[in-house]
Amino acid sequence: MGIPAIQKARIGAYIMRNLLAGRQRFPLVLMLEPLFRCNLRCNGCGKIAYPEEVLSRRLSVEECVSAAEECGAPVVSIAGGEPLLHPDIASVVGEITARKRFVYLCTNALLVEKQAGEFSPSPYLTFNLHLDGMQERHDSLVCCQGVFDKAVSAIRLLVSRGYRVTTNTTFFGGETPESAARFFDFLTSLGVEGMTVSSGFGYESAADQGNFLGRDGTKELFRRVFEIGRGRDWKFNHSSLYLEFLAGNEKYACLPWANPTRNVFGWQRPCYLLSDGYAATYKDLLETTDWERYGTGKDPRCADCMVHCGFEPSAVMDSVRHPLKAFLSHVRGVDSGKR
Ligand code: SF4
Ligand code: SF4
Repeated sequence: MGIPAIQKARIGAYIMRNLLAGRQRFPLVLMLEPLFRCNLRCNGCGKIAYPEEVLSRRLSVEECVSAAEECGAPVVSIAGGEPLLHPDIASVVGEITARKRFVYLCTNALLVEKQAGEFSPSPYLTFNLHLDGMQERHDSLVCCQGVFDKAVSAIRLLVSRGYRVTTNTTFFGGETPESAARFFDFLTSLGVEGMTVSSGFGYESAADQGNFLGRDGTKELFRRVFEIGRGRDWKFNHSSLYLEFLAGNEKYACLPWANPTRNVFGWQRPCYLLSDGYAATYKDLLETTDWERYGTGKDPRCADCMVHCGFEPSAVMDSVRHPLKAFLSHVRGVDSGKR
């Protein structure tokens, strides 16, 4: 299924409304991080590096709902940390889905079996399971044996109960096109509705700086993976033009204001990867951030970044402005040079 038709239609209409209103900057996805605490210690994760005093803090239900209402983005991605550790996470999800926002609840799966009964299937709720590869690779990256098996069990459980389930994968150095293709085949066989993919990227606070693909490595990996996947039934949780971008066929600017991050410190400037301070409100964030400073070729920290939170908004806007190009990419598949 990839992105459901109702979600595509609602987001397309939302973008058109904003463009017709002449707005230059508006949010698409709120990245809500209600806490940083996690029950894993993955390689490359900068969130868990905060001191205990910060890890103990969390956003209240009211603060989460207020962030969703204040920013108005049609999609809310709830991450962390591990959001299922938040004692009121079911209320947070219930309140935001009741406002007809599409919620992606990102989880490492460890608490899914215990807590799945606290939620109800809804077209507005998607469980987004973190899986960075097959068993050996994933368990190694999260530094804990058995997590892959738990994630697979959680996916099967959620699918069997009628939830929408997607996956969230970051590829790191050492991934091959063949291993990535086997992984996509496996996820597809589990019945996930969409796969979110990005490449690991050496942002400033990540713990492991030597394990990333780089921009050229990312393009090469995805170009070859998409070539292998031609004709296979892989569904991605991305616009087709973002996939073209990953394969190096499109050049897009980062639009960090479109995927703002709200966490226990406030509204993070400029994106969830870099932290150049915080704003008290989304309005302040929009109006007081020097957005022109950021992006590839501007800030050296952005040089290798191709993550969806920065570049998917450009691809989505391009899709709305050039629907024929997006449609042709969708039906033909990503151009791997052999199309
Ligand atoms: S599961 Fe996510 S938040 Fe937790 S340590 Fe791993 S990457 Fe970080
Ligand atoms: S390119 Fe955009 S999303 Fe990536 S680190 Fe820079 S500002 Fe953040």
